[in-house]
Amino acid sequence: MTHFVSTKGGVAPLDFETVVLQGYAADGGLFVPEVIPQVAPEKLQQWSGLNFEDLAFEILSLFIDRSIISADELKLLLHNSFKTFEHPQVVPVVPLGTRRGLHVMELFHGPTLSFKDMAMGFMVNCLDFFLQKKGSRVSLLVATTGDTGPAAAHASAGKQTIDCWVLYPRGMISEEQERQMTTLEAPNIHAIGVDGCLNGGDDLDWVITRMFADEGLKKRLQLSSVNSINWCRVMVQTVHYFFGYFRVVDTVGERVIFSVPSGAFGNLFGGYLARTMGLPVETFVCANNDNATLHRIFSSGKFEKKELKQTVSSAIDIVIPYNFWRYLYFASGCDHNKIRQWMSDFQDRGEVQLDPHTTSEVKKGFISTSITDEQTISTIAAVYKNHGGYLLDPHAAVAVAAADKLSSEFNPDTKVVCLATAHPAKFPDAIRKALALDGPLPEGAKHKSIEAAKNLFQRCRSCDCHQLTHALHHAMESVAKLRTM
Ligand SMILES: *Cc1c(COP(=O)(O)O)cnc(C)c1O
Repeated sequence: MTHFVSTKGGVAPLDFETVVLQGYAADGGLFVPEVIPQVAPEKLQQWSGLNFEDLAFEILSLFIDRSIISADELKLLLHNSFKTFEHPQVVPVVPLGTRRGLHVMELFHGPTLSFKDMAMGFMVNCLDFFLQKKGSRVSLLVATTGDTGPAAAHASAGKQTIDCWVLYPRGMISEEQERQMTTLEAPNIHAIGVDGCLNGGDDLDWVITRMFADEGLKKRLQLSSVNSINWCRVMVQTVHYFFGYFRVVDTVGERVIFSVPSGAFGNLFGGYLARTMGLPVETFVCANNDNATLHRIFSSGKFEKKELKQTVSSAIDIVIPYNFWRYLYFASGCDHNKIRQWMSDFQDRGEVQLDPHTTSEVKKGFISTSITDEQTISTIAAVYKNHGGYLLDPHAAVAVAAADKLSSEFNPDTKVVCLATAHPAKFPDAIRKALALDGPLPEGAKHKSIEAAKNLFQRCRSCDCHQLTHALHHAMESVAKLRTM
């Protein structure tokens, strides 16, 4: 039986169902597996030809007990989660001819065209499965500055057990992203555009954090969250590393490099888990933009919060990489006490200086860099020009630019897989800038779902930031009452 514990060590080991339903551990820590399962080399060899769904079934079976979800149920949940992807391979890997051995793994073929779809569909389907079994329901509350809201809304649309409330700072996300939330014809999706958010998404997070801290309210509304700290999302994010690995290697056992555009460290933590399980990864490139919290930790062991900068790769404009605590937990030898101390220091002072031993443990198997907007834009332009019009979105461009910048540190024969986390159609302004376009976008920067959403009603609630708490309580209580009638 696989059990999960809190990074802070304050809760008894729990099963998968409880961990998914709870989100955060009751002691304020993050859930991690008590033991990371190991995959033998022969097993890797056997898995190497599996399609995405079958591979996901094998990997997730190592974390989810059959008594919680049976084999047939897990297969069905996975099928329903990935049948919405429009590419037959789910995650195609394409060679990028600019350098030998360079590949792009496209993680953006899900319903809302971003990497967030990789895990959100499965996570919401799991939640729905558990809630149906219990005969209960939840209100999901999500704040988004881009891709999480659309992914959560699409995954939840039409689910009888879920009301999904997505809040976004109006005018601070792209119109394409806004329409992905407001044009859904599903009565259980509630998009809320909030005006006057002077601190962007942080203002929304603050309201949500306070609602979650109110135990009475949390219980009455059966509040739940699908943010990136939920264990289920991290777990599913291991699968694409295995799948991408098998697509590029000549022989299983060969080591590869993954370059990952990183914000909250959820994607990279999935990679770290995959490697710890036994996937032969030479190194991970942690690719930051100007918000370089992770790059600073990897270079100097200093975990500090700096002011947020707006960049063209907005999905990684993140100053507190929450999932890094999970990594620190393992890098410190599962030392609950150290994690508790560091988390409380970080809360008090906004920074933690790791000791030299932990710093050197943290650096093992990772290299990092930060990429400027100019480098991102010129990388989009260069790849478009030199590789037959192939378009990178700004996040994939950060990964490719980072792999380029650090290439002198790699063995030139080692294959490099850059993770493309969004479809270029979500970021038309960056594409226009890179290609110096005034007129129409190239076909590769368009997508039929984005075009279709331009011709649909938008349905959203709106309010000013200072009314948000009151208005949200009122609306959520009213809807919760309707559901019990
Ligand atoms: C969320 C996101 C990322 C960052 O992933 P983390 O797990 O937060 O590091 C990168 N690119 C895009 C497009 C995203 O939506």
